[in-house]
Amino acid sequence: MRADFHPRAKTVIRLPGYEQVRNDPVLYAHASRLLHLETNPGNARALVQRHGDRDLWLNPPPIPLTTPELDAVFGLPYARVPHPSYGGARIPAYEMIRFSVNIMRGCFGGCTFCSITEHEGRIIQSRSEASILREIEDIRDRTPGFTGVISDLGGPTANMYRLACKSREIERSCRKLSCVYPDICSNLNTDHSSLVRLYRKARELPGVKKILIASGVRYDLALRDPAYVRELVTHHVGGYLKIAPEHTETGPLARMMKPGIGAYDKFKELFEKYSKEAGKEQYLIPYFIAAHPGTSDEDMLNLALWLKRNGFRADQVQAFLPSPMALATAMYHSGRNPLHGIHRDRGEIVTSPKGLKQRRLHKAFLRYHDPENWPLLREALRRMGRADLIGNGKRHLIPLWQPPGTGFGGEGARTGRKHGPQTFLTRHTGLPPQSDSSKPFIPSLKKVGNRRDFSKPAAPDRRPARTFTQGSPCGAGKRRGGR
Ligand code: SF4
Repeated sequence: MRADFHPRAKTVIRLPGYEQVRNDPVLYAHASRLLHLETNPGNARALVQRHGDRDLWLNPPPIPLTTPELDAVFGLPYARVPHPSYGGARIPAYEMIRFSVNIMRGCFGGCTFCSITEHEGRIIQSRSEASILREIEDIRDRTPGFTGVISDLGGPTANMYRLACKSREIERSCRKLSCVYPDICSNLNTDHSSLVRLYRKARELPGVKKILIASGVRYDLALRDPAYVRELVTHHVGGYLKIAPEHTETGPLARMMKPGIGAYDKFKELFEKYSKEAGKEQYLIPYFIAAHPGTSDEDMLNLALWLKRNGFRADQVQAFLPSPMALATAMYHSGRNPLHGIHRDRGEIVTSPKGLKQRRLHKAFLRYHDPENWPLLREALRRMGRADLIGNGKRHLIPLWQPPGTGFGGEGARTGRKHGPQTFLTRHTGLPPQSDSSKPFIPSLKKVGNRRDFSKPAAPDRRPARTFTQGSPCGAGKRRGGR
């Protein structure tokens, strides 16, 4: 049911017709912008679009569920096991969620490559503590194979639980696409104390040995509440914590609606400080996207230099793929920026890396340490006038020499063959090999020069699915939708 307090509730917007949008990328970008401007249930208008000789009516987003309503949904008698028709088959998606608890829905981040706002809404809907604790007890008592470790207590973003606009009235009339971009809105409540309280109560439940946080942490928000970061780092990190700066350069970050890399640096400082205080050796795993709209070759080179400077070697990386409903998809398709008004003859033009060669190059920059990529990178660096980065010194990105038997495949052609020493995974989709999702992954660490090398452990891989799951902490929104 729609609230009728706002006059917008009595009006509709007509989008360009389907046939127009199909044939005209500029109109597609315009329609995409209109759709995204109508995502606040407090003031969104219905959308109407002509399809052939019929009109399609799109209702505004529903009013968010209250906590008791959401509790009622989560309180239904779910079986918590796969359908018997699967027999004994191993189901990777089930492994991922088996010991994981969803504490909330929605995201107000607005990252342009992600469509979670369109799926779950931009207003956070949170469960009550009692409902969440009941589910943990339910897992403990009924889920086969439970060893005392909850693999995640999260949602599309780990730390948006109970966060909201300070005023319902302001929220109802707000037309912004994000509460945290370009800066955290002054009207946003960033107090994480409800989440800290929940973590503490969950840890105290009998039979629960460890609660991990595997959903992505929105670190710019977390910075506003250092007490939360301390709680997280001291009790809820299983060796690695994944976060998603997505890039280091302002061009792509602005097109993604993500904060600058400075926020990552500040979070890292806090993370290391509290890890040290807790006497724990644990690491941040940053995720990056290659080939996002608005990313130039120079941006990727700068990102590669940042990775090298900070001692990161990404094993598996992700290149942007346009997905339904995302604003970045409209940028990719139209070359326009729907974050601003769309005009046929003016406005911002966004160039997207397209074509196999450029997309491979962008991924190769993320994996600058893989000898298979060196021929491609050498060619690119020479073309970009950066041959000074080729050489055998510390200041160089890639060496002059080529190990025998390497350099024939290159990024994107690696399927089915082994490559380089295993390092950290930075990807957003798919599942890693694993044998036991209930045990935290203890990485085998060794020094590579002044770098940390996240080498593959000799023992069977015990990485829990939580570490490498779908979506983003907007990131890394696990199975809960997202990019
Ligand atoms: S006013 Fe700020 S905090 Fe409130 S809904 Fe709008 S962007 Fe979010």
